[in-house]
Amino acid sequence: MKTRAPSASATLNRRELLGAAAGLAGLSWPARRALAGERWDLIVIGGGTAGLPAAIFAAEHGRVLVIEKSAMLGGTLDRSTGQVAAAGTVFQQARGISDSPDAHYDDIMRINEGTSDPALTRLFVDHAGPTLNWLAANGYTVAPGHPVTGDAHDHYTVARYQWGTPGGWSIYRAMEPQLQRALESGHITTVLGSSAIELIQAPDGSMGGVVVEDASGQRIDYRAPRVLIASGGCASNPQLFEALHGVPLYAQVAHPNSQGAGLLLGLAAGGHIRGGDKYATLLGAIPADERFPSAPVGIAALNATLRQPWEILVNVHGQRFCREDHPSVHALEVAAAAQPGHRHWAIFDQRILESAPPLSRRWTREQQLQVLRNNPAFSSADSLGVLALRAGLDPQGLLRTVAAYNEALTQRRPDPFGLEHRPLPIVQPPFHAIRMQGWTLVSFAGLAVNERLQVTREDGRAIPGLYAAGEVIGAGATSGRAYVNGTLATSALTFGRLLGQTLLTADR
Ligand SMILES: Cc1cc2nc3c(=O)[nH]c(=O)nc-3n(C[C@H](O)[C@H](O)[C@H](O)COP(=O)(O)OP(=O)(O)OC[C@H]3O[C@@H](n4cnc5c(N)ncnc54)[C@H](O)[C@@H]3O)c2cc1C
Repeated sequence: MKTRAPSASATLNRRELLGAAAGLAGLSWPARRALAGERWDLIVIGGGTAGLPAAIFAAEHGRVLVIEKSAMLGGTLDRSTGQVAAAGTVFQQARGISDSPDAHYDDIMRINEGTSDPALTRLFVDHAGPTLNWLAANGYTVAPGHPVTGDAHDHYTVARYQWGTPGGWSIYRAMEPQLQRALESGHITTVLGSSAIELIQAPDGSMGGVVVEDASGQRIDYRAPRVLIASGGCASNPQLFEALHGVPLYAQVAHPNSQGAGLLLGLAAGGHIRGGDKYATLLGAIPADERFPSAPVGIAALNATLRQPWEILVNVHGQRFCREDHPSVHALEVAAAAQPGHRHWAIFDQRILESAPPLSRRWTREQQLQVLRNNPAFSSADSLGVLALRAGLDPQGLLRTVAAYNEALTQRRPDPFGLEHRPLPIVQPPFHAIRMQGWTLVSFAGLAVNERLQVTREDGRAIPGLYAAGEVIGAGATSGRAYVNGTLATSALTFGRLLGQTLLTADR
C-alpha cells in the first residue's frame, strides 16, 4: 500500500539556516550518497529528537538510513527549551535526591489526572533515567541548581526536572560525537533535504521501505524491512491539526516541518490515529494579530509560582472563570479550555499597569508597554463599558464582574473565586484589557502504538516492521490531557533510544 504525504518544502527559513550552520559546524562526515538499490536494516523518517537516538543506537547493530526533510538534523531541538525530566539521573545523585520511576509515574498521572497511556507512560519512566544519563556521559549538562520540581507547569513532588544549557540544542550537541562516528563508519547514512512521501508495503502489510522525494521532485525508493516514523507532530499544519483535535491551531510555534506527514504515512499503511480528545491548552498567548495561527508577541505568565496576578481574567461574557492565583497551572488551563474560543482577557486599571511587574518574564515594563501599544489585543478606555466594547466583551457582564471583585476586596470579604493575591481594586481610569489566547506548541493526536512502539491497526494488530516514536505518537500518549514538565522531549529521546537498542537485536 502506498500513500502520498504532504509535499516537501524546499524553502529554508532563517532559523533553519542558522541552525544548519550551528549543527554542521562540528559535523564533517563524508557526503556519502544513499543508492536506490541498497538495502538497509532500518530506515528512520525524521532526524530529530526521537530519530537521532534511534539511529545512533541501531547503528551499533546494523545499517541505518535517516531521511530528513530539512537540510539539517536535530528537528525541534533547534527551538525546544530542552526541559527534560527523569528519575534516577546522575544529576539527582549529585544533589543527593532520591527518586524512582514509580514516583515519576505517580506524579505524571497525578498532574494529568490519569489521562496518559498507562503502558507507554510506564515504558517512558522506566527508561528515561538511563536516557538522560547517556546524554550526561556525552557532555550534556543542566542549568545551575537543577534538577528542580518544576517551573512553567505543575510541579513534581521530587526534583527530577531540568533544563539543558543551552536549551534543547545542548541535547543535540551531546548526541553529535556518536552520530559523527556512525556517519564516518557508514553505519548511518543521511538523506537530507528530502521527504518520505510513501511507505512501501508487501501484500501482507509488512514494511518494504520508503519512497523519498528530494527538493527537485526526484523520487527514489529505499528498501528496508523496518521503518521508524519519527517525523514529529502536526502543530504546523492548521487544517490537519483542527481535523484531528476539533480545535483550531491558534499559535504557530512548532517546527515548520511538523506537518503531520508521519501521521498520514502511518494511517495509509493501516494504522490509526488517537488522542485528539487529549488536547490541552496553554495560557496567555498575546497574539500578533486577529488571524489563526498567529505567532504570539509574548506569553503572559498566568502562573502564580512565577508571577502573582494583579489582574482578573474574564471570558467573552465579561465573567471570571477561575481563581487567578490557583496553585495548579493545570487547573487554570482546564478552566481556560472551557471558555469560548479558549480566549481570556486580563482586566486591570492604570494604577495596576504602573505598579505590577511585567506580565512576561522576558519583558521590562518599558518593553511591555511597547509591545502592547501597537497590538490589537490591547484595549484601553476611560470607562469599563467602553473598554468592554473596544475589547469585544459583554459590557454588562464586565461591569458586574469588576463591581463584585472590587466590593469583596474593599469590604475585606473573601474573593468570590478564592483569589488571595488582590493588591489593588480596579477603579482608576484608564481601564485596560489584554485579549489572550489559549494555545499549544505540540499535537496531542498521534499514531496508535503498542508497548513495543509498533504501529497498530484499529483491531490492535501490529503492522509488521513499522514503528513510531516522538510526537508522531501524540503528546497525549505520555503527557495526557495536560502539560507535564519535560514529558515530550524526554519521551521522544527515550523511545528513540529504546527502539535503537532493541530493533535490530531481537526478531520483533
Ligand atoms: C518551541 C518548542 C519548545 C518545546 N519545549 C519543550 C521542552 O522544553 N520540553 C519538552 O518535553 N518538550 C518540549 N517541546 C515539545 C518537544 O520538543 C517535541 O514534542 C519533540 O521534540 C518532538 O520530537 P520528534 O522527534 O517527534 O520531532 P522533531 O524533533 O521535530 O523531529 C522530526 C523531524 O522529522 C523531519 N520530518 C518531518 N516530515 C518529514 C518527512 N516527510 N520526511 C523526512 N523527514 C521529515 C523534521 O524536519 C524533523 O527534523 C517543545 C516544542 C516546541 C515547538
